[in-house]
Amino acid sequence: MLETTIAGSLPKPVWLAKPGVLWAPWALEGEALAVAKLDATMLSVNEQERCGIDIVSDGEQARQHFVHGFLVGVEGVDFARKKRIGIRNNRYEADCPTVVSKLRRPGPVHSAEARAARAATKHKLKFTLPGPMTIVDTLANEHYRDKVDMAMAFARLLNQEARELEAIGVDVIQFDEPAFNVYMDEAVQWGIDALHLATEGLRCATAVHICYGYGIEANIKWKETLGQSWRQYEQVFPALDRSRIQQVSLECAASKVPLELIGLLKTKQVLVGAIDVASDAIETPEQVASTIRAAMKHVDAARIMPCTNCGMAPMTRETAYAKLRALAEGAALVRKEL
Ligand code: ZN
Repeated sequence: MLETTIAGSLPKPVWLAKPGVLWAPWALEGEALAVAKLDATMLSVNEQERCGIDIVSDGEQARQHFVHGFLVGVEGVDFARKKRIGIRNNRYEADCPTVVSKLRRPGPVHSAEARAARAATKHKLKFTLPGPMTIVDTLANEHYRDKVDMAMAFARLLNQEARELEAIGVDVIQFDEPAFNVYMDEAVQWGIDALHLATEGLRCATAVHICYGYGIEANIKWKETLGQSWRQYEQVFPALDRSRIQQVSLECAASKVPLELIGLLKTKQVLVGAIDVASDAIETPEQVASTIRAAMKHVDAARIMPCTNCGMAPMTRETAYAKLRALAEGAALVRKEL
């Protein structure tokens, strides 16, 4: 009960990439980089275990960014042809690669680090992939008819990748869909269909992560425009509750999400974000416990998995792992009361 897990990413060691920077360039190249990515993956799995996390992740150590890490393995995406576009409904501008031809996945993208993570732990293992809607929101399109068409093409490739990850022994595959919190109507109209395509035929657990983003400046400014009550989840959760996706990862700690909205998830495992990733202040176990207890007013403890609000890639390792220890200790406090 109350198995702990993390949203996905963790900071990388200094010998792999510059800390504290999103999209940090790799510190190595060639064979040395390939080996270092796997070493960092094993290290991050072991550190999560030491912190007391039950369902560990690969920490996204082998990818530069949670979306583009998958895209580098896809043919049809031209990284040399970057276009400056407004993403997340123009919340910020980014130089995004362009889709120039039919998308194809010539081979596995993440198998090496999934195998390394699997070999490093007997704990349950979670692996994250970007969701189709978030992928198409982070790319320029010069080939497909429209973004739905392109999202479905990505969903088919994600499904191939997910089936291989499952065969390697991954227990949970999570799709990251922060775009669901931005395009709520489209999430209901086709975003969930795209997730169904991406998860077709999987026997492992499936999850979707919907958040308010990393603690970066563009997100902090955006949150200031959302008012005192963040109700984005209200529009997507009822449709998500009817979907085949089994787990929903969401933001609760230090957030203006009215907690009763998680009650809309009546059949899902709910990954309750009890660690704020937008602040370096380390939560106390008691603070974590009180977030979990507040969630238990709306969702049975049997369906709650204490988690982080979002990925921790931009933090220092010391801060991230201190927060994970607090997460495990806070969950243990509540478990004793059950
Ligand atoms: Zn997130």
